[in-house]
Amino acid sequence: MLSARTTVAFPRIATFLPAILESLAAHDMPVTAREDTFVAVCPFGEALLTPGRESLAIQIRAASGPELNRVRHAVTGLVGFVAKSEALRIVWAGDAVGPTFPPDLRILTVRDVQAITPRMRRVIFEGQDLARFDTRAQIHTRLLFQPEDAVTPEWPMLDDAGLIVWPGGVQRLGSRVYTIRRVEPANGLLWIDFFDHGGNGPGARWLRRAVPGDVVGALGPAAHGPKPARRILLVGDETGLPGIARILEDAPDDMEGLALVIVADESERQLFRMPKGVEIQWLLRTSPAVNGAQTPLCAAVRALDWSIGHEDLFVWVGCEFHDFRAIRHFLRDETKLPASRIVAFSHWRRGMSEEDIIAIGGDAVAA
Ligand SMILES: Cc1cc2nc3c(=O)[nH]c(=O)nc-3n(C[C@H](O)[C@H](O)[C@H](O)COP(=O)(O)OP(=O)(O)OC[C@H]3O[C@@H](n4cnc5c(N)ncnc54)[C@H](O)[C@@H]3O)c2cc1C
Repeated sequence: MLSARTTVAFPRIATFLPAILESLAAHDMPVTAREDTFVAVCPFGEALLTPGRESLAIQIRAASGPELNRVRHAVTGLVGFVAKSEALRIVWAGDAVGPTFPPDLRILTVRDVQAITPRMRRVIFEGQDLARFDTRAQIHTRLLFQPEDAVTPEWPMLDDAGLIVWPGGVQRLGSRVYTIRRVEPANGLLWIDFFDHGGNGPGARWLRRAVPGDVVGALGPAAHGPKPARRILLVGDETGLPGIARILEDAPDDMEGLALVIVADESERQLFRMPKGVEIQWLLRTSPAVNGAQTPLCAAVRALDWSIGHEDLFVWVGCEFHDFRAIRHFLRDETKLPASRIVAFSHWRRGMSEEDIIAIGGDAVAA
């Protein structure tokens, strides 16, 4: 059994103790009193809280380092949150303390880079313990890119409070969100299809220099994935295509529907397995009809025959912000499709990097 402990100076412990115990119980750590100590138990271990006159002693016990840290971070996070006004200094001693590797981060090594079309590259990564990415409910990951001249990769770590600490200065990481095109945990493989949009952001720059042996971090998975339905409408550009291809390859044979995909020209069309009842329509930016439209994907969605109703229909959208916004409004306001049957993401925004989008906030990234 491993153990870590701390004694925190806490002048107003008497005021905060009931809320701390309540919060532990509310987070699936039921508490029982044992003489002057409160014992909170969870599946990974236990926390013993002993209040003093102006202090709180905490001891964590668990069978392994990762479990010890899971309980330690949970308890530190809850105590810190409940007593935020007290600005407590919590310093741990004992087993497995100090910065720890985030449990939702994996290091991936480039195994191969393949050209699928003139602008689309498939990067096949190798990695260990990839089972967490093998879910249809969440198909996105945030990739972390090392600085171009980094000699030794540095990764984010969790501090004693379970808060993420990012490498700074020259070791600062770039990061962007991508779709997991395919994952094979048994073979330790994960595919990402990257679109080289020609810009100069950290994602596109990393792609252009990627060679076997390069490493990236992968956080997640995150965000809502596709939902089960008999009929499907999939709408996207090159950045949505990896999600569309994955959804169709995983779809049951009797699924019916349509995929509307916009790409630069004929050479960017891709072939992949899909149910017989699903049709794919390629819109080419070079075509005059598409060229003139402000939001060409939305124009194509509007032009569909919506009079047949949308019973058992699920719609998935991944594309540029302006199309995303127009499609989402059309679906919600004009077709009255319930929000629960739409998963729509703005994958990028014309003229703006991800940092620019975050700076303006709002619903610019996803919905
Ligand atoms: C949920 C989700 C899933 C995604 N999945 C994928 C995926 O599987 N494959 C993939 O390639 N991308 C995917 N993206 C899109 C990708 O994250 C963005 O394209 C991102 O901006 C790329 O980062 P960057 O560093 O290359 O460019 P940034 O630094 O973000 O942007 C630099 C410049 O490039 C422009 N730019 C960015 N993307 C494009 C584009 N597609 N076309 C034209 N100009 C662009 C920006 O407007 C900006 O002017 C996904 C995004 C999200 C949110």
